[in-house]
Amino acid sequence: MTAARKRVLSGMQPSGLMHLGNYLGALENWKVLQESYDCYFFVADWHALSTNYADTSHIREFVREMLIDWLAAGIDPQRATVFVQSRIPEHAVLHLLFSMMTPISWLERNPTYKEKQEEIKEKDLGTYGFLGYPVLQAADILLYKPDFVPVGKDQLPHLELTRELARRFNDLYKTPVFPEPKEHLTKFPKVVGTDGRKMSKSYHNTINLSDPEPVVRQKLKTMVTDPARVRRTDPGNPELCPVYDFHKIFSPLPVIEEVDQGCRTAGIGCIDCKKLVADRIVERMTPIWDARAKLVQHPSQLDDIVQAGSRQASAVAHATLREATEAMKI
Ligand code: SF4
Repeated sequence: MTAARKRVLSGMQPSGLMHLGNYLGALENWKVLQESYDCYFFVADWHALSTNYADTSHIREFVREMLIDWLAAGIDPQRATVFVQSRIPEHAVLHLLFSMMTPISWLERNPTYKEKQEEIKEKDLGTYGFLGYPVLQAADILLYKPDFVPVGKDQLPHLELTRELARRFNDLYKTPVFPEPKEHLTKFPKVVGTDGRKMSKSYHNTINLSDPEPVVRQKLKTMVTDPARVRRTDPGNPELCPVYDFHKIFSPLPVIEEVDQGCRTAGIGCIDCKKLVADRIVERMTPIWDARAKLVQHPSQLDDIVQAGSRQASAVAHATLREATEAMKI
């Protein structure tokens, strides 16, 4: 008999279209995880409300696009359970129960709470839901009792709060309902955007998985380069150029070396250099675009996958919530 696979849970907020940074940072990692773990991957649409509650007009579209991107990029519903948070009401119920026992001080000391409020000045984030965001996250995680949660170093405090809540619940009701999930530390590569800053939808500098080839090529064509290289005859410094960062991710070593040498000696022009990397990126994205096109043409296939995943997730969530309410004697 083979041992049961350890469980991994991870979610993503549908707050915009997925871009190359999300793909390289999260999806590539999920694809590896699904080979060895019992993976639960969910679209965290209720989480998107914590910052976008005033304008929900795009959320449904972003959920759908996100699911299409996941599947097109290689998330395999035969290997992983793919579902949407709002289809499983148990997330909201456990969030409510946890909120009754979460000290406010735990939430106020969360570094992301203040940072995000500073960062997103145009929205009023002084809300109950935004403060309680980590409690919903704890409910999302603990409902599925995962062994591991993939996190970057900066998200470790959130996972610690989840563990603290699991401990608090188990202690209060003298029943070990919730195990404490461990972190699966993930290194997210820094992917630059077309303006040289970190690729992010808030900077409008993304290359999206749903962008068609001409758009991708155009975005790369207008990408910033080493600012010191004004004329074709000026030698450049590839280390100061975001196009070179893309080469390091997408091009094979001989091309990277050729670009490095050509840039420093003005042997290659920026237009040709960008074309070289655009070809590589297009090559990498073509299978994703093909898979996307098939999914878009057959919307019922996507609906079936999400329905099956949500059914599977619902069974697990329902059983855990039942254990929790039994322990609380309610
Ligand atoms: Fe950047 Fe390439 Fe131009 Fe050098 S040649 S500045 S690496 S685009």
